[in-house]
Amino acid sequence: MADKEKNTWTAKTKRTFTSVLPVSENRQGCCVNCGACCKLPNACPFIKSGEDGKEFCSIYTIRPYNCRKYPRTESELITKETCGFKFE
Ligand code: SF4
Ligand code: SF4
Repeated sequence: MADKEKNTWTAKTKRTFTSVLPVSENRQGCCVNCGACCKLPNACPFIKSGEDGKEFCSIYTIRPYNCRKYPRTESELITKETCGFKFE
């Protein structure tokens, strides 16, 4: 399935419910704050633009697990173009 086809509310709901599970051991890299996962499938109301032009999470310290763990598995990763994480 193409990444675009995975960008649905159903997929987001699944990520939310499975976010209690551990992150895949194959995950490499780190978040580079591109903000792409905060727009799946629509821009989150808590994403804000700073004076430096970069985007940030306005509830960062209490952000939900699906945000903290994205991409938890390789199949969840649908922001490959800009995400700093990859799976080996
Ligand atoms: S709560 Fe924060 S980290 Fe989660 S999607 Fe919204 S802006 Fe992004
Ligand atoms: S898509 Fe990846 S690099 Fe971009 S904000 Fe989300 S986790 Fe971070």
